[in-house]
Amino acid sequence: MKTFPLSKARLGKVIEKYPTPFYLYDEFGIRENVKRIRKAFSCLPAYKEHFAVKALPNPSILRILADEGCGADCASLTELLLADMAGISGEDVMFSSNETPAEEYRKAVDLGAVVNLDDFSHIEFLERACGKIPEIVSCRYNPGPLKTGNAIIGRPEEAKYGFTRPQIIEGFARLREKGAKRFALHTMVASNELNVDYHIETARMLFALAVEIKERIGVHLEFVNLGGGVGIPYKPEDRAVDYETLAHGVRKAYDELAVPAGLGVRTEWGRTVTGPFGWLVARALHRKSIYREYIGLDACMADLMRPGLYGAYHHITVAGKEDAPLTELYDVVGGLCENNDKFAIQRKLPKIDVGEDGDIVIVHDAGAHGRAMGFNYNGKLRCGELLLKPDGSVVQIRRAETAADYFATLTVNQSLAR
Ligand SMILES: *Cc1c(COP(=O)(O)O)cnc(C)c1O
Repeated sequence: MKTFPLSKARLGKVIEKYPTPFYLYDEFGIRENVKRIRKAFSCLPAYKEHFAVKALPNPSILRILADEGCGADCASLTELLLADMAGISGEDVMFSSNETPAEEYRKAVDLGAVVNLDDFSHIEFLERACGKIPEIVSCRYNPGPLKTGNAIIGRPEEAKYGFTRPQIIEGFARLREKGAKRFALHTMVASNELNVDYHIETARMLFALAVEIKERIGVHLEFVNLGGGVGIPYKPEDRAVDYETLAHGVRKAYDELAVPAGLGVRTEWGRTVTGPFGWLVARALHRKSIYREYIGLDACMADLMRPGLYGAYHHITVAGKEDAPLTELYDVVGGLCENNDKFAIQRKLPKIDVGEDGDIVIVHDAGAHGRAMGFNYNGKLRCGELLLKPDGSVVQIRRAETAADYFATLTVNQSLAR
């Protein structure tokens, strides 16, 4: 059963102040979730979660996560600045970027972030960019055919990320020669994976590699970072990953492999941290009956790209009709001139009333990789973001874009744009 934290009446009040479409995030839900994660993983040494900023790049949210003890995982200059804005600094920031410009490495090193190199050749690139190799460096491992991937991220041997196994061992030796003193190992081989064993096996793989690196070249790793990729139950029949089971499985692998003393464990999860605690709220404007029945929303793929991009499932409910019988079969669509702008295809839903005072449609599990993936195609303006506070109040944490925002980067005489 998918829930939404506001009653229809309360939601109506919010909409009077902030017209649809918008994202709503539940602060209490996010905080409780992080507490559960940290409690489960407290069985591992020096555990730290570095929230993947790309999943929900809003400093108001990052500040909440920082308050709950999270660091950040960044992959671009602006993500580094967002983490900084939220007061996440120094080694609480991992910089897991790829195809990185020199300027961004310099910024990461200036901020004291842990740079996570994506390739062997980036050792020299980083050294040239910064004038020297930082004291602490992490390297990202791509196990290639040694590990199977999953649908969103693909097979590791076809993925652009990381060092091969021989490269990573040589890479740590090279980094030590160049003056690095502290080392970490990272991988990210799955996305939206609900299978607990998959994540435990990933941890086991990293622990085994940490042991091998110590034995072969005497480099002692300070921590391994298991990356992101923990799935969330988008479909009502999916089962959420149980954090306790996962953490205990990782602990068991840790003990079985007799890893070098003190090896810390970190994660850089995004989706599972905020995904279930965000909703896209939109109004049903139009209904058309042609070869299929269509419900047209005031939100579109520019607000939430996942269904169009990956064919991803997002559960949909209608405010006040949560218990109504699912008598209709609709395609729920947005207004882009792109036929894949569909939030749901042939979905059983209750009868939806449309118009300027039409039903409010709620798209669930949009709290990660939702607003963040938005874009401006067709001149569509991305919607704003609201935060439901633990005291029940609702505050705006990002306003909706305006036409002026859209035109702000143009160099033409602004009077022509009227
Ligand atoms: C996207 C990403 C994450 C977060 O992934 P989730 O699926 O949101 O948990 C973490 N680390 C890296 C390097 C990523 O690219």
